Amino acid sequence: MSDLAAAQPSRPDSEDRPLRITAVRSHPLSVRLAQPQLSAKGAHQVSEILVVEVETSDGIVGLGEGFCRISSRIHAAFVDQLLAPRIVGRDARDRRALWKAMRAAISGQPGGQIVEAIAAVDMALWDIAGQHAGQPVHRLLGGMGRTELRAYASSVTWSDEATVEKEVQLVLDAGFKEIKIKIGQPVEDAIRRAHFVRRLVGDGIKLYADANWAFDVDDALRVAHGLVDAGFLFFEEPIIAHDREGYRLLSRRSPIRLAAGEADYVGSEALVRLHDRSVGLIQPDIARSGGITETWRIAELAAAHHTAFAPHMGLSGAICAAASLHIAAAAETFLTYECMYYDNPLRSELCEPVVGERQDLKDGKLPVPTGPGLGVRLNRSVLERFTVR
Ligand SMILES: [Mg+2]
Repeated sequence: MSDLAAAQPSRPDSEDRPLRITAVRSHPLSVRLAQPQLSAKGAHQVSEILVVEVETSDGIVGLGEGFCRISSRIHAAFVDQLLAPRIVGRDARDRRALWKAMRAAISGQPGGQIVEAIAAVDMALWDIAGQHAGQPVHRLLGGMGRTELRAYASSVTWSDEATVEKEVQLVLDAGFKEIKIKIGQPVEDAIRRAHFVRRLVGDGIKLYADANWAFDVDDALRVAHGLVDAGFLFFEEPIIAHDREGYRLLSRRSPIRLAAGEADYVGSEALVRLHDRSVGLIQPDIARSGGITETWRIAELAAAHHTAFAPHMGLSGAICAAASLHIAAAAETFLTYECMYYDNPLRSELCEPVVGERQDLKDGKLPVPTGPGLGVRLNRSVLERFTVR
């Protein structure tokens, strides 16, 4: 052997050994929430999620979660019948190639429920990668050196003033310094609500509003001015998510930062919003936007467009919360984390340790998970309790 060859470091053992996917298991879950979540779209009282376990040849098991809301068994069928056959036997580390292979299961425009099912598998592949490397996912993504994240309470419901007053008190008592409220039609009530909440919290609390598509462009503009008068800092989904020209028009005239993105599936959709500057905050949901692989692409696009990024949580569970904390920790333009403050056992009981819950809040901030991978493990008895047969 020459001296030069002798000086080369040997390749680490792990690079030579394949990390084959040996099994993919899907678990459709459903829970009835103690309190209905009231928004301009109506009341949500049932939360459904898809949990996926991906097992590898060296015994590592990764966890992932897909966004379903009301159709977890349909999403489970996507995983079992369409996705698993395309990836079992392949190397779990080839995440982008596996993503493309899963996407090819259905032809047509990118998007839809298949991408939500892919999100669950992709998240599990990142969990595997982190466990394999002995590193938390936020470090695999590049790492911003953050150990804690700004967080806001989500969301004070679109209900009567007495209920709103109680909810505001609860989140202030929990230590939140940032709060999002739901608003809806009519315009006058939305503006009145913004001022009502501002009077309740005083001047030191950051406030945001989410209209869940309640308005058209003209009414949204009137609400936007009312929100600014009440000192609000962003206006989420003022109009239907897919009215791209509407967002463009509104953003040119709105006095407040617009936020959207939770209804998008893939990076190419986010790119349109970012490139034409129709939002000042992009909010993909990792359990919908194709998992960590595709949502990270959106986070990087947001950074390239100097636009704020914040993952959407909504009715998602504990695995999505962990993934969201990791992406938030690594994203260059991360703004603030959506911390759901109402009780949901799919968030607070499904995994250990519990992450991203209001009980962890310190000085208005949440700690970033530290374990390898996503840093959470399934609580089997809770998984059983909420599995839909
Ligand atoms: Mg929203």
